[in-house]
Formats: sequence, structure tokens, C-alpha cells
Amino acid sequence: MRGGKKKVVSKTASSVAIVEAKTHDNNVVTIEAPIVSSYNDRIRPLLDTVDRLRNLNVMREGIQLPTIVVVGDQSSGKSSVLESLAGISLPRGQGICTRVPLVMRLQRSSSPEPEIWLEYSDKVVPTDEEHIAEAISTATDVIAGSGKGVSDTPLTLHVKKAGVPDLTMVDLPGITRVPVNGQPENIYEQISGMIMKYIKPQESIILNVLSATVDFTTCESIRMSRQVDKTGKRTLAVVTKADMAPEGLLQKVTADDVSIGLGYVCVRNRIGEETYEEARKQEELLFKTHPLLSMIDDEIVGIPVLAQKLMFIQATMISRCLPEIVRKIDEKMETAVLELNKLPIVMASTKEALMALMDIIGSAKESLLRILVQGDFSEFPDDHNMHCTARLADMLSQFSDDLQAKPQEDVTEFLKDEIKVLEECKCIGLPNFIPRSAFLTILSQHVDDIHVKPVEFIKKIMDYIEVVLSSVITIHSENFPQIQSPIKRAGRNLICKIKEQSVNRVAQIVEMEKLTDYTCNPEYMTSWTEKTGAQQSFIDTVLNDSRKPENFSLAGFGNVKISHLRKYHAHLLHQAFDMKMRITSYWKIVLRRIVDNLALYLQISVKYLVNSQFQKEIVAEMVDPRAGGGVEKMLEESPSMASKREKLKNSIKLLKESKEAVAAIVDQSSGFGDH
Ligand code: GDP
Ligand code: MG
Repeated sequence: MRGGKKKVVSKTASSVAIVEAKTHDNNVVTIEAPIVSSYNDRIRPLLDTVDRLRNLNVMREGIQLPTIVVVGDQSSGKSSVLESLAGISLPRGQGICTRVPLVMRLQRSSSPEPEIWLEYSDKVVPTDEEHIAEAISTATDVIAGSGKGVSDTPLTLHVKKAGVPDLTMVDLPGITRVPVNGQPENIYEQISGMIMKYIKPQESIILNVLSATVDFTTCESIRMSRQVDKTGKRTLAVVTKADMAPEGLLQKVTADDVSIGLGYVCVRNRIGEETYEEARKQEELLFKTHPLLSMIDDEIVGIPVLAQKLMFIQATMISRCLPEIVRKIDEKMETAVLELNKLPIVMASTKEALMALMDIIGSAKESLLRILVQGDFSEFPDDHNMHCTARLADMLSQFSDDLQAKPQEDVTEFLKDEIKVLEECKCIGLPNFIPRSAFLTILSQHVDDIHVKPVEFIKKIMDYIEVVLSSVITIHSENFPQIQSPIKRAGRNLICKIKEQSVNRVAQIVEMEKLTDYTCNPEYMTSWTEKTGAQQSFIDTVLNDSRKPENFSLAGFGNVKISHLRKYHAHLLHQAFDMKMRITSYWKIVLRRIVDNLALYLQISVKYLVNSQFQKEIVAEMVDPRAGGGVEKMLEESPSMASKREKLKNSIKLLKESKEAVAAIVDQSSGFGDH
């Protein structure tokens, strides 16, 4: 036997059963058989667990498993390497043979009878050594069609046999640049996409199969593995066909031009109709006796070495990954359960639906009450538009400023309107009485000038409340998408009604100001007295000043023009001046009163809307069969909700099974993860 004492090779099996362990400094040491079996006993349960997780398809939940992925250019010898490891025949040869990911699960068995079976799309197909190639071809045809196309649905081949190493590997289709006859045009993209999906996760070990006959730097598989593993720390290279190109092979693997972190293993696979035993013997002989190949270090040649390296790498990787996998399963399970619990229960009767509806309305109403009336916006800390009391106050204060903004007094037309109105309202009577009708006419003109503003203001408020109402309804009915539109429609109808009422009411508030000139506010008299103080000197300057000045400087009005007033009688000027001062003093009070009234009205109408109208209106709409019977709609679960529920249930089932699968080894896990 080659290598002297370094290896313990079991001759009982047709293939290899190499056992070896490594110390921390990576020196290979020989282990005697009993210790060997204890090493395997420790690794086996971990391997079984990972394989069980793989069968459960836990990767579907985004949990990556440590996997040895076999990649290589077409005809580099991937299938041959797997054959050598498993001691079985795989479809082999020119052209594309591997067309789907083939998961090879090799299991050491003590029984002399090998057990071999295929698993794919819920099918278990038993087979035997003679018929494997055929069975794989048939299964591949079922999965990927009988043409030359590829598919990424995996096919699992179980080989339980004495002497095989405990390994699980994935064989992927070889990379072809140019589609062969009958292959889809985008075959390269399809295959490279599939390979990337498998080699990208950090948990994957890349077994890069390179033919000794080619220049490694030109290999497509090297190019791809370097994209995801630059330093090569999870890449192991197998160099096949050592027999065909022995020249320079030693230099190639020692130079390591393509940075392979986990090292190289050179092999010679089965050729032609050789048996596996013959093939191993030939390989051993080749590396021992060939003048060039025998120069290569024993530690990096032969299928047995490859087998043990892979087992070691696999065990290390699994030990390293399992704690994280366990943690991820727990975490994903927790989130899935939480999410499922958040989904609404399916209603069984109208009564239940009605109760759920009342819940929605109740909680929406509470929410509205908090944000619109009480000023508690803790539900929407960052959404400023939903801080309603503040936004309403902003709108009111802007309206107030806008309404009370002083219009630019036309100093050239001073008293013109007053004189015009007085001339038309004059009657037979004493000259020092101002006709009331004249004052009301002037007041009315002032009101008409501003009357659209309060109405616009209340409309704007209602539009804003409609937006708020709609968001609140959406949030509280999100579990029942099928009733969102009728509830929202009810909300819109309600706002529409309230808007109409409010506009009428506001118009009335404004109209009231036209009808009566009254205030108990003493500021009116104070202001009027102060303003009329200048009356005599104003009249004197207009009528009696011999210099006939153009302007007069009047406190509160500026430098007003007076030259156009000289043609009027003194008593008319007195009346006009007096009226100007009355209306000026009074108008200020009127504007403030409008703002005050609107503020109070706004508050009461919001309260009324939330407290008594909201619930009534929505219930009426939802139970009205003419409006589409919203409540009945709640009995049907929406298709999107049903599929969401189904998906979550499946995930939970899978994660639960995964949890059970890992539970066993986690319990006795004090040993794992400490390599
Ligand atoms: P795959 O396309 O990468 O799966 O490559 P195969 O395993 O199908 O091998 C392609 C061809 O190379 C087949 O004809 C094999 O018999 C041959 N082959 C593979 N490995 C060796 C080897 O080590 N020595 C020799 N001489 N031929 C090999
Ligand atoms: Mg192949």
C-alpha cells in the first residue's frame, strides 16, 4: 500500500474508507480504528441533521445550509469524480449529461448490500448499481424535459453503501459557452445563474473540478468561483485526467496561479470499462510509479485523499454553521408565528362579521377622537399631517391673519364711498343724525367683500378631515381589504354631508353680521371716541384753510387726500367722517367675531362628526344591502389574505419540523462547534 503508515484503508469495500483526523496545526495523524469510529459517530448525526434540513427544503425559508458544490467546465470530469467517490456509474461522456442539480448523498453503511434510491418531486425511486445511470436519465427527463434543456429543480441520489465516505455534494451542469444543437440560446445564462445560486452563500464549499489537460487560468468555473470567493478560502480544486497530461502538473498545482485556498487534489478517474477497484489500483499505481506524477506530494493525490479532505471540510463547516442555523430557524419561526397571529380570524357568521365591523369602527373612532379632538398623536409620532389639533390650529390662525389683514386704504378716495351712500340714503330730518340705513349699507358692502373667505376656510378644513378620516379607516380595516372601499365610501359621504351643513352654517354666521350692527365690546366706543377727536380740525382744514392744502395727516389713515372734498356741505362731511370712524372701529370687532365664531363652530362640528355621525353613517352603509352588503363581504376571506395565511402555515410547519430535526443534536451539542 502506498504511503506506508499514513493511511488506514479498509479493503472491505469496493471503494474507499479512509479515516484520518487532523490536529490543530493541520498535521495529518493516523487514528486507529476504534477512535475513527467515534469520530464518525460524532459527525454522522450532524450530517444527518443537515441532510434532513436539506430534504425539508429549509433553504426555501432563506436558511443556507453548508453544502459542497461541485462545479467545473463541461467534460472536466465532475461526474467521474463523483462516481469515484461513490463507487457507482453516473451518466458520463461527451455533451451535456448533468442537466439538473444532482444532490448526491453518500452514506457509509455496515450492510454488505448497497441501497440506492432517487428522490425527486415527492417521488422515491429505488434502483441499483447497474441501473443508476438509466434512472438518473429518466428522472432528469421528467424534471427538465427530454431535450437538452436544464432545470434547477434538484434530484437527490442516495447511495448507502459500505466503504463510501459520509458526504453530501451537489453536482451541477457543466458550463458551456456555446449552445449545442437543441439547447436554448440562453443556456449559458441559465447554467451560470444556477451555479451562482449554489456557490454564492458563504456556507457553500466550492469543489472546483479542473482537467489537467487545460490551462486553469482559462477555466470558466475558476472565473465564476473567484467572483464569489476571491481569496479561495472555501474553494478546493480537484485536478482530473492526471494520466492524460502528467507534464507540468506538479508545477501547475504548486504555482497556484488561480488562488485555491483549500488546496489541490490530483486524481485519475475510472477509464472505459474498468471496475472501481481496478480504477483505484490503477490510480495508486500511477501516482506511485509515473516518473513525473510520483514527484507530487502523497498528501494531494488520489481519490481516498480527496474523500477524507472533503469529509473533514464538511464536518468543520457544519460544526461552524449549525449554531447559526438553529438561531435562524428559531428567529424565522417566531416572526412567522407572530405574523400569522396578526392575520384576522375567518368569520363564520354575519354576527361575527358585524362584531368585527363594530370593532373596526370603534377603534377608528377612538383613534379619530384622540387625534382630532384630544390632541394625542402617539399613534402617528412622525406623521405631521396626522397631528390634527395642531394642523387645525395652524389653519385657523392662518385664516384669522388673512381675514384681518388690513386692506390698502386708498388715500386718494378718502370718504368717497361714505359720501356716495349718504347721498342716496338722505331723508328729511335733522342733519346731525346719520341714517342707520346708510351705516348698514356700508357694513353690508364690507361683509360682501370678505364673505367667500370663511366659506373657503371651512371647505378646506373638511377636505383635510376627509384625508385624515380615510387614512384612519385604511389603517383600522387593513385586515379586511374587501370592505375598505365601502367603508371609505361611507366616510366620504359623511364628510360630504358635514361639509354641506358647515358651509350653510358659516354662510349664516357671516350673514348675521349684515343684519345687525351690535357689540357690547367697550373697545368700539373707545376706538370711535379716539378717532372722532380729529373731526373738527379735519373739517376746518378741508373747508376753511386759506392755503387749500392737498392732503391731511390723519392718525390711523395716513396722509389722506382732501382736495376732492371741498365741494361738499359741512354737514355731509361731518356725517361721512363720523361714519368712516364708526365703521372702522366696528369692522375690527366684526372680523374678530367671525374668527371666534368659526373657531367654536369648527370644534363642535368635529366633535359631532367623530362622536355621533361617524359610527351611524358607516354602520348604515355597511349593512345596507343596496350598497353592496359590506358585512357579507367580510365573510369571504380575500384571495390574497388566504394565500398569505397558507404560505405562513406552510412555513411554520417546515420550520417546526426543522426545529425538531435540530433539537436532537442541539441537546447533545456540548461537543459541536468546538473544532
Ligand atoms: P463532466 O461533464 O464534467 O461531468 O465530465 P465527465 O465526468 O462526464 O467526463 C468527461 C470525459 O472525461 C469522460 O469521457 C470521462 O471518461 C473522461 N475522464 C474523466 N476523468 C478522467 C480521468 O481522470 N482520466 C481520463 N483518462 N479520463 C477521464
Ligand atoms: Mg457530468
